[in-house]
Amino acid sequence: MKEDLITKYPFIKSGLKEYFGFGKPLSEFLEENSNYLADVSRDILDVVNGKDISFPIEPDERVKKFILAKILLTFIRDYFVSARYAIRERKILYDNIELEQDHRNIMLVAKELGIKFELRDGRYLVSVQSFLKNAVVFNDKELKLCNQEMIEGRVVADRRIIAKLIREAFYRIYMEEVNSLSSFPEEVSPILKGYAEKIIVRGGQIRQERANLGPLNTKAFPPCLTMIISQMSKGMNVSHPARFFLVTFLHRIGLSNDEIFKYFGEVPDFAEKITKYQIEHITGTGRGREYMVPSCNTLMSLGLCYKETDELCRSGVINHPLNYYKRKNVRRGPERKNEVNGEKTNH
Ligand code: SF4
Repeated sequence: MKEDLITKYPFIKSGLKEYFGFGKPLSEFLEENSNYLADVSRDILDVVNGKDISFPIEPDERVKKFILAKILLTFIRDYFVSARYAIRERKILYDNIELEQDHRNIMLVAKELGIKFELRDGRYLVSVQSFLKNAVVFNDKELKLCNQEMIEGRVVADRRIIAKLIREAFYRIYMEEVNSLSSFPEEVSPILKGYAEKIIVRGGQIRQERANLGPLNTKAFPPCLTMIISQMSKGMNVSHPARFFLVTFLHRIGLSNDEIFKYFGEVPDFAEKITKYQIEHITGTGRGREYMVPSCNTLMSLGLCYKETDELCRSGVINHPLNYYKRKNVRRGPERKNEVNGEKTNH
């Protein structure tokens, strides 16, 4: 396989086989590449800590590190950790597809990821099934089926759309693979354990930091969120971005998907299946990635900010709804107990 191709797309199976070696035991591969394994372990830790990393440009190193990262992430099996790493990989893949000069390479990558399409006059005709399976980016108007041109029952995609579909297919498959239950040969676990330890500890710390936002305290909700909840409880049909904000916020402060779902009960276009799917998608518990809570600036630009109704927001010290919640939750510490004990958890 061509070296530049495997460097850009290290997940292509024929290339993987070439670099892994035929019939080689996993323990042998790990020991032979222990220097790369140490680098990969550091890279994953950096990504978890929010740092940027670059990928090698030399084919042997690029492919072996790609394989090693997958092995280590499968061993760790932490959704948050693997999502951070997969997002970095998918970004590189997207950039490479956008810049790709050779249509045949795009065809090869798409086929590898199970996307069915035909190249006609420089445009890609994608089957509706492949399109829907991968066009799962929440709120991306470019990927809505109703915004697509259709020919002969297929979606006409330009390079940008095809790059997005490939990016999403890669992410979905990568996440499914590294988060599925796998058993490692007895002699392999002790090798991987040493490289995984720091990452596992850091992943746990981050979860703890998230939990430090405190138990549910609806009195500490920022006015923007309270407004959405109030509108929904009155049966008003709130906008898509408002629902997105509600789900990301409630997920981030620790509510389960079922608890989040209860907030949607009064919405007029209530459709249980779709709502559940969207919650799973936004919170990253389905096949999607975990989305961040929008900042105050974003909410303002969407017309969802109600800062004028609240003293703390008006003071100008709040730049994120979670900061608001954290501040109020800390101040009102003792009152929280009642809500946690079940006296006031519903709305
Ligand atoms: S300032 Fe931020 S927290 Fe306050 S209402 Fe506006 S968006 Fe919400």
